[in-house]
Amino acid sequence: MTTSFSGKKALVCGASQGIGWSTAQILADQGAQVTLLARTEERLKTLVNELNGSGHSYLAVDLHDTEALTKALQNQSNDFDILILNAGGPKGGSLLEAKDEEYLESFRTHILANATLVKSIAPHMKSKNYGRIVHIISTSVKAVIPNLGVSNTIRGAVANWSKTLSMELAPFGITVNNVLPGYTKTPRLEKLITATASRLGQSESEVSQMWKDKVPSLRFAEPEEVAHAVVFLASEVAGYINGVNLPVDGGRTPSL
Ligand code: NAD
Repeated sequence: MTTSFSGKKALVCGASQGIGWSTAQILADQGAQVTLLARTEERLKTLVNELNGSGHSYLAVDLHDTEALTKALQNQSNDFDILILNAGGPKGGSLLEAKDEEYLESFRTHILANATLVKSIAPHMKSKNYGRIVHIISTSVKAVIPNLGVSNTIRGAVANWSKTLSMELAPFGITVNNVLPGYTKTPRLEKLITATASRLGQSESEVSQMWKDKVPSLRFAEPEEVAHAVVFLASEVAGYINGVNLPVDGGRTPSL
């Protein structure tokens, strides 16, 4: 099996930390020319210099701001072979407490941003009859997670968006697949542990242990364990895998 990305151009969203950053590093290690997308220019400037290889760049834009994203994409060539769709997860909390703005904000960041990116990039992929789109979502697509009300709602919508897109783009040599991370050691997980510990009046180590106990593998994932699954689906050899949800969760999701 070869997973060389030599000659391939990749846009990795949510690339300044966590699973997105790990994915960008692996793609660069394997020869891809990577564009990092996140909000903070200073951080991206530093990170782009840490990637192995040459020809990397960055795009500092807030995925929540559809207008700014559209403008940013108009100012560059967008001839990417690989698009990794990823952003920070929606705010936690129960549905009864969720504000309208939380639904609208996550709809913009997770659906409108993806649609804007795909409208700019898919025409180039179609012209080459080749493309890989990988979407980092959550296992809540398969089994909802308590106290992540808005997130569960948006994740389901996003997964259906991806599946529909995979059917539209398949005739053009383009695949669209979803990776569903379980508990993964990133700043996002740290924040969720802190919030849950404060809500339940427990220590952070108690909450961590309680969550690890829910995973058959009895541990959290390293970010690169999820990123390697993303990179595989972004590789040439994964060309006949299309429209799937792939949990990378240590076996936690209780369904196939
Ligand atoms: P993270 O919060 O550590 O990193 C998210 C990245 O997205 C960062 O680079 C951040 O700067 C960027 N980002 C956030 N909002 C943005 C915006 N509006 N515009 C541009 N960039 C933005 O997240 P992670 O843990 O790496 O997770 C990646 C995805 O996987 C998220 O959707 C997360 O909810 C999901 N997920 C994570 C876990 C986990 O345990 N870490 C579990 C299930 C699902």
